[in-house]
Amino acid sequence: MGLQNTRVAAAILLSARNMSTKIHVTIWNEFRHERKNEAVKRIYPDGMHAAIARALSASKDLACRTATLDEPEHGLTESVLQETDVLIWWGHVAHGDVKDEVVKRVQQQVLSGMGLIVLHSGHYSKVFRALMGTNCSLKWREADEKERIWNLAPGHPITEGLGEYFELPYEEMYGERFDIPEPDKLVFISWFEGGEVFRSGCCWERGNGRVFYFRPGHEAYPTYHDENVIRVIGNACRWARRRVTLPTDKAPNAPAIESIKKKDVHFGRAGVQQ
Ligand code: ZN
Repeated sequence: MGLQNTRVAAAILLSARNMSTKIHVTIWNEFRHERKNEAVKRIYPDGMHAAIARALSASKDLACRTATLDEPEHGLTESVLQETDVLIWWGHVAHGDVKDEVVKRVQQQVLSGMGLIVLHSGHYSKVFRALMGTNCSLKWREADEKERIWNLAPGHPITEGLGEYFELPYEEMYGERFDIPEPDKLVFISWFEGGEVFRSGCCWERGNGRVFYFRPGHEAYPTYHDENVIRVIGNACRWARRRVTLPTDKAPNAPAIESIKKKDVHFGRAGVQQ
């Protein structure tokens, strides 16, 4: 076996090993509504992050941990993020309290390969807006409406195990236009009782990482106790999980791989090192 083949075999072995190990999921929540609002506390006594972690942990391939805003560095230290294959993000009233250095850290981790799942009101988080580059604004209404979530991509890993649609009896309405860049793949669209529609399951690649936005999850409703919602989040963890860790924040000056023939020409050279 030549050196090249040995390298290929080693790479295949490495990726096979990575596929068989557990996916390390960190569920981040600002954890404010559940402590201040009695009605929300009744639905999620330990917080939405704990409910999601408990439900996802029923899947043997997912290893879950949680982190919240009030922990030092919001629970998202460099080492926590390095060990994270997929970060799930729920925020609403405290987007402004998230430190810019942590936002930058999360953004760089996504660009180097970590997966990110942004839930519901996380559309307005600093992290999501930094990765999208748009305002991510939308219409909303809190009126106990039925939401019908249509499966647009039956063959996609994120919709595995779902039918043509599923419904949530009570949800907050989010309506278009959702100010996002065109998704690389749109997997769900929601219809609401009051008449609006919304792109509710959107996939993007950013650098070496994958990002999924999933709409449901208003804090006043038991959405994260719904088995279809949990199925989607679990599927999204498998789709978005880290496959490589390759930082993209350097633009190196590269020596030539092949020798370059000397030319009889004279151009100026700026020689700027980035
Ligand atoms: Zn909401």
